[in-house]
Amino acid sequence: MTLVVDKFRTLLPPRAKSSPSGWTSFNAPCCQHRGHSPDTRKRGGIRFDGDGIVYNCFNCKFSTDWQPGSPFGEKMKNLSRWLVAAEDDIKELIFESLKTEGPEYKPEQYQSKIEFTDKPLPEGSLSLKEWVEFGTDMPLEVVPVLEYVYNRGYDPLDGNFYWSPSSGYEQ
Ligand SMILES: [Zn+2]
Repeated sequence: MTLVVDKFRTLLPPRAKSSPSGWTSFNAPCCQHRGHSPDTRKRGGIRFDGDGIVYNCFNCKFSTDWQPGSPFGEKMKNLSRWLVAAEDDIKELIFESLKTEGPEYKPEQYQSKIEFTDKPLPEGSLSLKEWVEFGTDMPLEVVPVLEYVYNRGYDPLDGNFYWSPSSGYEQ
């Protein structure tokens, strides 16, 4: 992940909502600056694609993106301002983008290390395999989970996927 992506993430509103498709949605900050009424239906979407950033507004149709090796463009700067970034933050984004344009830029240097910590499974967790064994008594909510895992190219019944009915783990 690039420092540009790391930095840009900090500008997103705290209540932005991520979905399994990879889009994070929040009230689009662009619309009211472009002659549209302010968005209240979380129609702004952002995706961090590899090392880059893709933004799309499904309300006023504003879109922009940034990829490593390219400058932090005017539209990205505007988007940052609309997300109430400080001018210093924007300078940093421009500067970090510039660094990705140089021949010495190696994406892997920026790869952040993910450290997994063991977390106890939420209450009532069973593997998808075990849920399926309930047959007709299986909670209906398990069905979209099975589909999701299957559509991602994994075998939902290999015992590695868990689902729990406890709240807070619904996605
Ligand atoms: Zn918009």
